[in-house]
Amino acid sequence: MAYDSISDPSNPFNKTGLSVEVRALLRYVEDAEAATATQLVVTCTTDHPAGPTRHLQQGTDGLGLAIDGRIAARGTYVNQHRPFFDAFAKVETQLYELIYAYPPSGKRADGTIGPYNIKAGKRVAPYAVSGHKDHVHVAVNRTVVFRYPTPSPAPTPATPTPKPGGVMVRNYLASLVAPNGGTWHLATDGGIVTDTDGAGGPEAPYLGSVPGSGGAGVARVRGILPHKGGYKVVVQHPDETVSFFHYPAA
Ligand SMILES: [Zn+2]
Repeated sequence: MAYDSISDPSNPFNKTGLSVEVRALLRYVEDAEAATATQLVVTCTTDHPAGPTRHLQQGTDGLGLAIDGRIAARGTYVNQHRPFFDAFAKVETQLYELIYAYPPSGKRADGTIGPYNIKAGKRVAPYAVSGHKDHVHVAVNRTVVFRYPTPSPAPTPATPTPKPGGVMVRNYLASLVAPNGGTWHLATDGGIVTDTDGAGGPEAPYLGSVPGSGGAGVARVRGILPHKGGYKVVVQHPDETVSFFHYPAA
């Protein structure tokens, strides 16, 4: 995450005393930036003109309940800073304010359709438009501390069914050498089982299957990519959406 004038000794981000709420918002931006590969810039925390603003309200252990931010390039054209807005849209119901003059369109709390901002966790028509064309304002209530959501959480088997070695794997797709001995077999229905290749060595851990495997409308394994000493498994669900999980779990 970039800050404006980070080398400036008077930079407000160098100050101590920021509340845990603001520190969490900064961490959230860092995580969002890593997940989306879009450079996000925080332009203001508590260095804000006085007024009825959450920037200058007391948090749990320090000052501030709001941050401002934008993408790297300065500007005021329509949609420009949407990546910053969209990063926080993931947690919109937990926000006190999410203000941007060029927001996306969606169904508002009153049932109407149109561009929206967030007020007290609810979608409302954009407000304070004139002052929020070149940045996005994000504010929380005191004690609200959250993290950037994991984009694709590993699917958890609905009914874990540990299987001993020797289980039949249907629609065999690939066989991988497990790091701690044995073999993983991955099937096109998403099932993963392990065995010891009859060598009597340690069995690789069985970590379950994707939900729905083995039945009608099952998820399909579409790819297996080496990833950090294990594998990243690409799964396509019956509704065509794609998710990933790691094997073994990270
Ligand atoms: Zn602001």
